[in-house]
Amino acid sequence: MSSISTGRMIDDRSDPMKGRVAWAPAKSVWITAMTLIAIVGGPLTFTWSAFGVFILLTAITICLGHSVGMHRLLIHRSFRTPLWIEHFLVYLGTLVGMAGPFGMIYAHDIRDWAQRQRDCHDLYAHRRSFLVDAFWQMHCVVALTHPPRFVIEERVRRDRLYRLLEATWMGQQLPLALALFMLGGLPWLVWGIAVRVSVSLTGHWLVGHFAHRSGHQGWSIDHVAVQGYNLPRFGLVTFGESFHGNHHAFPESARLGIEPGQMDLGWHFIRLLARLGLASAIKLPHMIAPREGLRRVETSGDAGDGHPVGQH
Ligand SMILES: [Zn+2]
Ligand SMILES: [Zn+2]
Repeated sequence: MSSISTGRMIDDRSDPMKGRVAWAPAKSVWITAMTLIAIVGGPLTFTWSAFGVFILLTAITICLGHSVGMHRLLIHRSFRTPLWIEHFLVYLGTLVGMAGPFGMIYAHDIRDWAQRQRDCHDLYAHRRSFLVDAFWQMHCVVALTHPPRFVIEERVRRDRLYRLLEATWMGQQLPLALALFMLGGLPWLVWGIAVRVSVSLTGHWLVGHFAHRSGHQGWSIDHVAVQGYNLPRFGLVTFGESFHGNHHAFPESARLGIEPGQMDLGWHFIRLLARLGLASAIKLPHMIAPREGLRRVETSGDAGDGHPVGQH
């Protein structure tokens, strides 16, 4: 089948269906090692201060780094900020331990591209059972027979910090690990690195798994392979990322929790930046040209026009 091009994924002769799932050794060994250290070492080294360090570092790296820095800023350009802040947020996003900046853009965009086609490979759709999906998403990649061309915009591609982070993303844990060890010994090291990285990566997969299968939807998209769903109960711990149905409807929106009662701490951080004069050109659903096939599926307020309620 032929495909449509999206953003950085170009070439209408590519095929989002045909390909084989291949084990990705580096990613697999990395996540397995972190998880084993966390499962064995976590209980052995537990202290309340180590637990506090784990919570604090997870919140900072996932919210400011992953959700705001990598996802809403670097990938979707949903707002503008001075380069030094962008660099700092993307650095924090790298500390999550999932991938470097280019790897994150690729992992996001290839899935997004595949999900926007009429049909796509089971891996991109999270269509398989819980355990198969866990293994596929955290330990494998799809080697497509006819992949699209992946082209990162020049400004990002040439950025020296991003190139460094991309080349050394696993090693970026080392300075932090050293600081944690000096400040709080083995407990801070195990909880601040291994427990945090394994919980972050497993949590990221869980959200991706459930948010593409079923749940609450404010909008749906016609004629695409995969829908996104909101997981309202997880809004707090995912810093707004669990409102994934909203994200499919309005991918460039800086705000993910757009309906009343949808807690989105990542959005509050962007608002804080804006109040400090450090964020501008913030995109919201009503400013974005509606996606083709966008349809309101739930009646709250004026249904059917494809515009969200509560835009501020
Ligand atoms: Zn999605
Ligand atoms: Zn996205």
